[in-house]
Amino acid sequence: MALLQPDKACEPIVVVRGLTKHFLVGRGFFRKERAWLHAVDDVSFEIARGEVLGLVGESGCGKTTTGRMLVKLTDPTAGCILIDNEDVAAIGGQGMREFRQTVQMIFQDPYESLDPRMTVFDIISEPLNVNHIGTLVNREERVAYMLSRVGITPPDMFFFRFPHELSGGQRQRVAIARALVVNPKFIVADEPTSMLDVSIRTGVMKLLAELQEDFGMSYLYITHDLAVARYLCDRIAVMYLGKIVEMAGAEEVIKNPLHPYTQALISAVPLPDPAIRRDVPNIRGGVSKPIDPPPICRFHPRCPAARSICSDRDYPDLAEVSPGHLVACHILVAR
Ligand code: SF4
Repeated sequence: MALLQPDKACEPIVVVRGLTKHFLVGRGFFRKERAWLHAVDDVSFEIARGEVLGLVGESGCGKTTTGRMLVKLTDPTAGCILIDNEDVAAIGGQGMREFRQTVQMIFQDPYESLDPRMTVFDIISEPLNVNHIGTLVNREERVAYMLSRVGITPPDMFFFRFPHELSGGQRQRVAIARALVVNPKFIVADEPTSMLDVSIRTGVMKLLAELQEDFGMSYLYITHDLAVARYLCDRIAVMYLGKIVEMAGAEEVIKNPLHPYTQALISAVPLPDPAIRRDVPNIRGGVSKPIDPPPICRFHPRCPAARSICSDRDYPDLAEVSPGHLVACHILVAR
């Protein structure tokens, strides 16, 4: 896949500015004390048409919440999302139907995302029915085409099967067919291969890459797996406790990680040759929840490169340190 950088010559399909989501939570022994969980905090990025942006980070870093806000399943606390030049916050009523044709989501768990009482045909044709697209004959043809496109053949043998009659890989392929049946321009894929056996994961990843090229869609691909992000994505944004800490081309992030957190993530990926040793940054402690965090670098308590300015200054903004390579770190930006 060619690396696409959003610029004026290539108008982005997704523009996110200052996206924020805070959840009210209880704290203390009886959870009576009110506090705010900063799940996503002042996140900004763009996705070009036909581009795949990977959002990478550990569980609880805010990547799924970001994806859910993009498809309007969760309302933001603050910030702005434009998709195909539409302000997502202002969409409602009839506009929601058009929005659901433009934007779709593939969920992590194919067991939960498919209604067990519906047949494969009903599951895939439902978005066509809801949006009044085509006649019954057209819909049958479209469902058959989508099933064969996602590798479920012969399609008519699967029309009247229920999700429990399918394997995990087939279920996720049906979920992908359902998401693509309305020809969306933008897909949020939330760890779509993480619940699958390793043996079928590669097949589904190859399918997603082929479909992205054939249909020319843009993806926000959410994953905790850097190897998957490297395979599928043009660019990678690394998230830590609700903030994007590094963003660059996929190969650049993998081969030249700059932020200490990205370096730690990459050092955790096993190497095929056990004789090769990596310099592993000494990360202290574990991931905490960003509940009413102080307004300084979120990685400060664990960072092996921390200096006094890191605790003296406000949270570092993402800044470009080389063309297309952005990092949120006082020390790296000051170099
Ligand atoms: Fe580490 Fe300081 Fe950079 Fe944060 S700003 S990542 S604490 S060096």
